[in-house]
Amino acid sequence: MVTYKKILVAVDLSPEAKAVLARACELRAHYGAVLYLIHVVEPIVLGGDYELVPVMPVEIEDTLLQRAKGYLGTLAGEMNVADAQQVVEIGSVKHEILRFAEEHGCDLIVIGAHGRHGVATLLGSTANAVLHGTKCDVLCVRLGK
Ligand code: AMP
Repeated sequence: MVTYKKILVAVDLSPEAKAVLARACELRAHYGAVLYLIHVVEPIVLGGDYELVPVMPVEIEDTLLQRAKGYLGTLAGEMNVADAQQVVEIGSVKHEILRFAEEHGCDLIVIGAHGRHGVATLLGSTANAVLHGTKCDVLCVRLGK
């Protein structure tokens, strides 16, 4: 039987994040696993014709980081996720989720089936990219039913 030891749950800042985290918390309790909660701040991108250049003035970066940390703290407090397991990264959402999962040996990633990028498709772009970019199991939580 599969036993998950390290679960990574990825949340955006949408109201649906609670449902994603709630599902991950159920799995944490069921398997007695460690739970990591990650949010990724995407840099603002300036696009030319041929090149996309990530830019983020330090002040904006700080503001976004503080906002994300505050949000995660509130969310985590409601769900009893210890401080040490809350992670805020800057970068590409899918790359940072995949990188963290790999570096920390996570065996399950819990992610919303869709989020800010639209409810029209079955899987959002992030869920799709994570599903195809990792060797570990992925649980996509269906949202907005
Ligand atoms: P989307 O690709 O916007 O449809 O988002 C699908 C799911 O990916 C969301 O429900 C979250 O679980 C996750 N996600 C989206 N954006 C982020 C982010 N900035 N940081 C962490 N997870 C995210």
